[in-house]
Amino acid sequence: MNIQPHLKLEDEANFVERALIDLAGIRSGMLIKNFVSSAQKLKKFNCPSNGLPILIPLIPEMFVAYEKFDLPYERIKRLIFGSVPSNYIGCRLSLNRGNFLKRFTLNSQFQKKLDTYTREILLAQKRIQELINEFGSVGAFQTRNIPHLGHEKIIDKMLEQCELVVINPMVGPKKFGDIDCGKLRGLYDSVMKPRYKNKIHFIPIRANMFYAGPREAIHHAKLREWLGFTHFSIGRDHAGAEGVYKNNAAIEMTRKYENNLSIKIITHGGAYHCSACRGIVLHDDCNHSKEYLTEISGSEFRQTLKIQKHYSYAANDVQNWVFKNHHHLNLSQR
Ligand SMILES: [Zn+2]
Repeated sequence: MNIQPHLKLEDEANFVERALIDLAGIRSGMLIKNFVSSAQKLKKFNCPSNGLPILIPLIPEMFVAYEKFDLPYERIKRLIFGSVPSNYIGCRLSLNRGNFLKRFTLNSQFQKKLDTYTREILLAQKRIQELINEFGSVGAFQTRNIPHLGHEKIIDKMLEQCELVVINPMVGPKKFGDIDCGKLRGLYDSVMKPRYKNKIHFIPIRANMFYAGPREAIHHAKLREWLGFTHFSIGRDHAGAEGVYKNNAAIEMTRKYENNLSIKIITHGGAYHCSACRGIVLHDDCNHSKEYLTEISGSEFRQTLKIQKHYSYAANDVQNWVFKNHHHLNLSQR
């Protein structure tokens, strides 16, 4: 995932919003097994197959009563992210203090939002279970990008293994340059869904990203398991940013703990244009050497869209939709 560090750190509101999203995850049941309410409970997460620990930070204005516990910053940072620089975007987004809540009563002004987020998660779970009843196998593809031909190839590959693919972006606090999920839905509903003969749906899920790379890939698979999906796709740098995790580390870790998951994992090592195959291939799908391969780059695609130029490795109908809706999409801020 190609995430640039655009975050404005003074944005304390983001921490409040993240805490509410995590609370909704816990209350809906999706993250209940991940909630850490004491230092002792953190130990379970030494094993990556349990996903990521969810800690609710002590933000005084959010709670009217609480009991807290402390954890050293370095311990949590290392556990969640591994050895990454302390200014890594994942740490800056999700860790800003070492006091966490054991028990708490939420200030009533936040209750309505928490109820809304909780309902959204439960509704997404219900819709996915209805789709499972109808189609039998449904895969989740986590992306919040305008799709280029590499994304389309991944969707094609998933459709070889499941009857339906749900584009399932995780929606957390909006960051500078993020494309609004409602607008992305417009693209998938009006362009992609008809082209894929209704084999694609778009259902976002309210949840925070940590950018914790390989460990988060497993965490994401477990969330999809809870939602009811039968398949989940994981790429070579799933939930990584700023190049801190090794290529394919997410795939390798997921494979290592795959037996602990009931969801089937579909992995892909990135998309290329192969001049020998004369088309788009996923890594390892053809045996041609590097000189034939051009990597399909999400950031290059964004750059060309920004200046309303045509990108060779994205579908015309997608690009035409983007050009038509350009003024809504916020692309110039990226
Ligand atoms: Zn080839």
